Amino acid sequence: MNRDTLYEFNSRTGRITINHDECLACESHACVKACKQYGSGILKIESGKPILSITREEAEKGGCVECLSCEYECWFKGRKAIVIDLPLTINL
Ligand code: SF4
Ligand code: SF4
Repeated sequence: MNRDTLYEFNSRTGRITINHDECLACESHACVKACKQYGSGILKIESGKPILSITREEAEKGGCVECLSCEYECWFKGRKAIVIDLPLTINL
C-alpha cells in the first residue's frame, strides 16, 4: 500500500483511513452515499476521491458519528478501501 495515497482523519475515539488508490477506479462511491444516508453526511467526492466536507477538527469533535457505514458499504459495494480503527474498551 502506498502511504502517500492514504487519506486519514480522526473521529472522537478512532481513526478512519481511506486508500485513495482504490477510489479512482470505484464507480459506486458507496461511502459518500452511506454517510449521507446513515451517518452525518460529512463525506464528498472531489477529483474522484472521497474527502471530508468539514474540517478534520470538526470531524474529530463528533462530526463523524462513528457509524461505520462508509466502511461497511465500501467493503460490499466499493473496493475495500476504508478501514476504521475504533479501540474497544472492556470493563472487567
Ligand atoms: S466506496 Fe470505497 S472505493 Fe469507492 S470511493 Fe468510497 S472509499 Fe473509495
Ligand atoms: S463513520 Fe459514519 S459518519 Fe463517519 S465518515 Fe463514515 S459514514 Fe460518515
